[in-house]
Amino acid sequence: MKTPVCEIDAKSGFLCPACQDRLSRGELTEADVEVSRILHKYLEQFSLGAVEVGKAIDCGKTLVILTESDAGLLIGRGGKVASVIAKDYGKPVKIIQRTADLRKMVEELILPVRVLGINEVFKGGEKAWRVRIKRSDALRLPMQLSSIEKVLAQLTDQKTTIAFE
Ligand SMILES: [Zn+2]
Repeated sequence: MKTPVCEIDAKSGFLCPACQDRLSRGELTEADVEVSRILHKYLEQFSLGAVEVGKAIDCGKTLVILTESDAGLLIGRGGKVASVIAKDYGKPVKIIQRTADLRKMVEELILPVRVLGINEVFKGGEKAWRVRIKRSDALRLPMQLSSIEKVLAQLTDQKTTIAFE
């Protein structure tokens, strides 16, 4: 299993100097630490050995977990694994698998809202993604715009904005 903090820390509940340093630099968040511990707790019970989680992002009402491995491993049969993670963390959880299909990742994240299109734009000389959705869908977004943009920036490694039209 791969978690945002190292395996020893996920198991012990303490942070080693290297992970502590990443936490102070903002490379790791409290959500990363908490989710690493929760996943380690269920490692054997739910056979999570093949799970690779890169990042956990607390989006206020929802916890988003970005995984490099098959999302099904973290969802579990009948949603069992996702539901114990949600219960331990104290918030509903959304598992997003990192793939090359940007549109699919975005659609999973903002379900039930549909994506009209995604364009690459230049903003201040930097490449950025612009995800277009219907203005009438703004109120149906499952989380705050700033949270969605934060998750998308993590997923794509570049600035991403939502545009309404
Ligand atoms: Zn560590």
